[in-house]
Amino acid sequence: MRPDLYRRLEQRSRRYGFGKVLFAHENEAMSCHYGADSITGRQRLIVDMPGEYLRVNCPFCTDTRHRLWINYQWGLYDPKIGTLNLWLAICFNETACMDKPGKPEELYRIVYNDVTNRRQVRAGDTVNKGIKVDKAAICHFRPAGNVLYPLHVLPPHHRALAYLRSRGYDPNQLSLEHGVSYCADASAEFPKAFDRIIVPIVMRGELVGWQGRYIGEPPKGVMKYYNMPGMQKIKYLYNFDVASKYPFVVLTEGVTKVWRIGPEAVAQFGSTLAGFQAHLIDATWPTVVVYLDGNAHEQAEQAYCSLRAMPNRVKILLPPGQEPGDFSQEYNRALILNEARKQGVTLRMDGAEI
Ligand SMILES: [Zn+2]
Repeated sequence: MRPDLYRRLEQRSRRYGFGKVLFAHENEAMSCHYGADSITGRQRLIVDMPGEYLRVNCPFCTDTRHRLWINYQWGLYDPKIGTLNLWLAICFNETACMDKPGKPEELYRIVYNDVTNRRQVRAGDTVNKGIKVDKAAICHFRPAGNVLYPLHVLPPHHRALAYLRSRGYDPNQLSLEHGVSYCADASAEFPKAFDRIIVPIVMRGELVGWQGRYIGEPPKGVMKYYNMPGMQKIKYLYNFDVASKYPFVVLTEGVTKVWRIGPEAVAQFGSTLAGFQAHLIDATWPTVVVYLDGNAHEQAEQAYCSLRAMPNRVKILLPPGQEPGDFSQEYNRALILNEARKQGVTLRMDGAEI
């Protein structure tokens, strides 16, 4: 009943010793109601019949008999009470194994927040193609929250999903292809990340930062985008790893514009292209399409100029007030091909050549 959970437990089985994933009460639904907790007085989920459990070896004790029972409703956001119901994972091996403080959250992190457990890159490490990591380029990645959950496990009516859909995005695709998640519990370091849509920023396979989008239009004084403090934006391009597999790159301002254009697009995080980013583009692709917002003609000209060493350059200047996010992906792609052709540059997109 939770293919995502089953798959993740299987994937992490070797590393955490989960063993084979077994079932109890397979395909049975939970029967439950909501009531006040007798101690805290707060609303909580009261289970009458628990329904399906996934059974694995507990990673926190010596269990080898699949005595960690994880209910299929575990780790799903429950909007009525605003929690993930992490208490629905129980270890029957040791008394109170999962009752110890922090254990339920640790299990969630093991299962879902794999990216936050990744080892950080250190100076001198060799990444792809033998490029040594420069000390100055290292960003000390810190996760946005203690509980980040992928968009595709949220209940369908969750407001983060409703917001993205209203803007014309497919939340499942953003979750599965771009690792976009929702921050249900911010870390103590970054309380402002709470209740935001979190977009991970990856460079050369390493997580280097994140950007948190406010859901909806923020009130006055609240940032629309909250970047991981300390992230050196000027050293990165959003979607670099994916776009670098294509023969040309489309340079845009922000992450949502990348989603609107396609896999060949990168974002420079703002209207200005930094020198380091220009160098990165020049060193990676032979062809660039500068496609910034209509209000940034001057910055687009500057970017175009700073990329003058590249064999092929295209610039698209939208009328002021317009930006790539206003259009469908189909429209943007047709516009890019058309403008490139007019400027004497041949692009190959989805196998098509114009
Ligand atoms: Zn245990």
